[in-house]
Order: sequence, then C-alpha cells, then structure tokens
Amino acid sequence: LVDIQAMNKHYGKFHALKDINLSVRSGQRVVICGPSGSGKSTLIRCINRLEEHSEGTISVNGTLLNDDTKNINTIRKNVGMVFQQFNLFPHLTVLENLTIGPVKVKGMAESEAITLAHQYLERVHIPEKANRYPGQLSGGQQQRVAIARSLCMEPDIMLFDEPTSALDPEMISEVLDVMVELANSGMTMICVTHEMGFARAVADVMVFMDQGKIIEYADAESFFSQPRDQRCQQFLSQII
Ligand code: ATP
Ligand code: MG
Repeated sequence: LVDIQAMNKHYGKFHALKDINLSVRSGQRVVICGPSGSGKSTLIRCINRLEEHSEGTISVNGTLLNDDTKNINTIRKNVGMVFQQFNLFPHLTVLENLTIGPVKVKGMAESEAITLAHQYLERVHIPEKANRYPGQLSGGQQQRVAIARSLCMEPDIMLFDEPTSALDPEMISEVLDVMVELANSGMTMICVTHEMGFARAVADVMVFMDQGKIIEYADAESFFSQPRDQRCQQFLSQII
C-alpha cells in the first residue's frame, strides 16, 4: 500500500531523512519510535506530502508522489492523518468538522455525509457530542473527533503522529482504546508513538529511528524481546 524507496529529505543543508526504505502492506500496523529529532514526523509527513521529499520514491496505492498535483490530491483523499494537536476547526461544530471534508473534497451529498459522521462518532464513543464546538470538549474527546473526521474520508491508511502526547494522562487511554479498535477492524496504520503498551498490543512491525535513519525494523515480538541495535535498547530501557 505504501512503498518508500531510497528516500532522502533535506531541509536546506540539513539531512533529515537518510536512505529510507519502508513498505507497508494493506492491513499492516507499523509503529515508529525513536528519540526527539530523529525524523519520525518528517517521515510520515512525507507520506501525504505535507513535506516534499528530496530524493527517492514514495508511492501510495500505486500512485507516485511527485510534483503532479493530481497525484497529490488522489493520495490526500486516501490517507488520513491525526496530529498531536487536534487541528479541528474551532468555529464549526463537531458534526460540521466531520462533514466538511466528505462534502467539499469528495463531493458527497450532505445528508450522506451526516449519516456517515454519526456512524463514526459512535465508533469513537461520543455520539452525544455532535452539536458541540471543539472548545467545549476535553482533549481526549477532541482527539477522538479528529480521528472520526479522518475516518469520514474513508481512507485506505491512517497516519498518526504522537496522537496522545498532548493529552492529560487520564485521557490517553480513551484515545488509545479507539486506536486499538481501529487496528482490530483491519485499518492499515502507521503510528508514531511512544506508548509501548499500545505498540505491543497492535504493532505488526516496529520501526526505530535515530538521526534520520531507520535503525531497526522488526516484528513486535523480537523488537521488544531482543532489539539488535544498542541505541534502540537504550531508548527502550528509558521509556518502558
Ligand atoms: P519529535 O519526537 O520531537 O517529534 P521527530 O522525530 O518527529 O521528533 P522531526 O520533527 O521529523 O523529528 O525532525 C527531524 C529533524 O528535522 C529535526 O532535527 C528538526 O529540527 C528538523 N526539522 C524538522 N522540520 C524542519 C523544518 N521545517 N525546517 C528545518 N528543519 C526541520
Ligand atoms: Mg515529531
């Protein structure tokens, strides 16, 4: 579904991503971890072209990410993204936040979009918040709205960039629970997170990054029981 080959990314002179190769199959769950500044956000932002890569190829669902805006729009429609900051539209209700994408981007009929929005609010366990504004919700509820909003676009893959790191501790699990349910429903996911309990529960593949490189790529079982690289061992011992 996602295929990244020999990808490099420079910010001016700074070499942020070095020779990245990563393939994600349909239905696979990939968790990316690594120290601050290692390039995790840059990597997943390149997958939906929030950042432009410098060399190599990235393809999503067979569509090559290049300067062709047609391709970029195709990919953005199929790739959902949830950020650390929820990025909801504050002046729109929850329901309006959920319907605006399907209606404006996909040309869906409003009534259909509303039905879909209610379904996904059920899925994230806050059906009663449809007519509230984001500012009236807790952080955990806002993040679940953000997840529902992405799902309303019916993406082929969901990207998460530290979705729980801006939340108060008591709200983390309600968001992680929704993500586990999403994983169990078969969604293809790439998650940047340091929530290793979550990673153990859902990850098929663990990726550890350091200084712009993928240092370790392993199935979850061997990653946690016997990480090969010393930097990775050290990192895990600090956060678990
Ligand atoms: P964190 O865990 O803190 O979120 P990260 O692994 O997500 O870190 P990135 O945000 O991908 O790291 O950043 C990787 C490197 O690229 C960092 O050294 C950062 O300073 C640099 N960088 C990120 N965005 C830019 C930018 N727009 N311009 C220049 N340098 C950038
Ligand atoms: Mg980051």
